[in-house]
Amino acid sequence: MGLLQLLALVSLLIQATAFTSQEPARPGPTAQPIASPSPTPTPLPPPTVKIDAYRTAAARIIGAAVTSDRAYTKLAHLTDHIGHRLSGSKSLERAIEWAISEMKRDGLENVRGEKVMVPHWVRGEESLEMLRPAPGKLTMLGLGNSIGTSAEGITAEAVVVRDFGELEKLGEGARGKIVVYNAPYTNYGATVLYRLQGASRAARYGAVGALVRSITPVSLQTPHTGAMQYDPAQPKIPVAAITIEAAELLQRMNDRGDHPKLRLKMEAKFLPDAESANVIAELKGSEKPDEIVLISGHYDSWDVGQGAHDDGGSCIVVWEAARLLKELGLRPRRTIRVVLYTNEENGLRGGNAYRDTHREELAKHVLAIEADSGVYRPEGFGLVATAPLQVRANLQEIAKLLSGIGADRIAASGGGADIGPIMREGVIGASLDVEGSHYFDIHHTAADTLDKVNPQDLALCVATVAVMAYVVADI
Ligand SMILES: [Zn+2]
Repeated sequence: MGLLQLLALVSLLIQATAFTSQEPARPGPTAQPIASPSPTPTPLPPPTVKIDAYRTAAARIIGAAVTSDRAYTKLAHLTDHIGHRLSGSKSLERAIEWAISEMKRDGLENVRGEKVMVPHWVRGEESLEMLRPAPGKLTMLGLGNSIGTSAEGITAEAVVVRDFGELEKLGEGARGKIVVYNAPYTNYGATVLYRLQGASRAARYGAVGALVRSITPVSLQTPHTGAMQYDPAQPKIPVAAITIEAAELLQRMNDRGDHPKLRLKMEAKFLPDAESANVIAELKGSEKPDEIVLISGHYDSWDVGQGAHDDGGSCIVVWEAARLLKELGLRPRRTIRVVLYTNEENGLRGGNAYRDTHREELAKHVLAIEADSGVYRPEGFGLVATAPLQVRANLQEIAKLLSGIGADRIAASGGGADIGPIMREGVIGASLDVEGSHYFDIHHTAADTLDKVNPQDLALCVATVAVMAYVVADI
């Protein structure tokens, strides 16, 4: 069956059975062409796995996933009833307690929280005001890990640069000013450097505050938060994200010689580290229980919106994948381990703690998958570029079981922040890859809410992870 027919069938099934009261604001899967497989430089050896014996199981998994509303119902509870989940917050700990009790009710095995101490940054009240030439409020969001201002705030002239090169040219011209970075989005990895390093690089020239154009290709006056890092060699100055609209406004004023004057107020601060936990649940392997296929996401989020796509949705996907296999009576030979990491966003303490706690069994981790790109229509997996060619060939073969839902691509690279620490110890890592054209529209914003999640896409993500995890764990 072609993809379009299958999606049409899936749509019908879903409309007929499951999601009638939960139609998303966004329309169903768009009929985009499937991306061609990423080029792999070296020819792959023939696969050493045979997938024919798994066709029936894969079809059962996909059928069960797309006709179940349990993933969406769980995500709705997490987002609407618990809400966003910043490290140190009560809501993150409520979410952890809920997951542990529900995973036990789902019949998953070895369900537990593994204690992790996490940083506890709080935003407090914050505001940005233009005093001249056009007095009024500007929409902003403080960046995570930033220090705050004094109660009166910082009042200073703004100076706008488009990139670090313009900052270097400006040099001492930044002294006593609020430096505004108006760097247009190119890709996340490149543009995010302004968020991460902008404050310290401006502080080096005596700036008293920094504002960073939100790391996003589009904006409807939406500021995007996210972590920043201080260079210990420079003085710490407060830093916040502003919208594309505000950055462009300040750029125009700057270029006309208006010398805009701003007042930035932020109460941001760190409280003492808080106790949190990585959530772990398993489907124990029937023959080689000590060998592990890890499927994971990060359970914490920023303190705005609901953390629906980032990364609550992915946590529900990996959890539901394991539950669905259990329900279908598909117990693989190796263990499937679900991990919901704490504190990815502003510390990575969860990923590091997992590596430290499980160091003895890392050699028995067959594959570690992390989902952290939103729960849009799945396209396949990104396999770490350094994976042995035989592993790549075999995963590509297994992924053929997902061709019916268009999720059979094994991209040339992949991995994830939380599995990074164990990948550096030699574990082979992969990411769940999804259609990503709208992820950064809402990433780290108040708009990352459940209405942006398409239940059909979410169900297909569950199917994709469940099929891959099951077959890798069993083959
Ligand atoms: Zn994330």
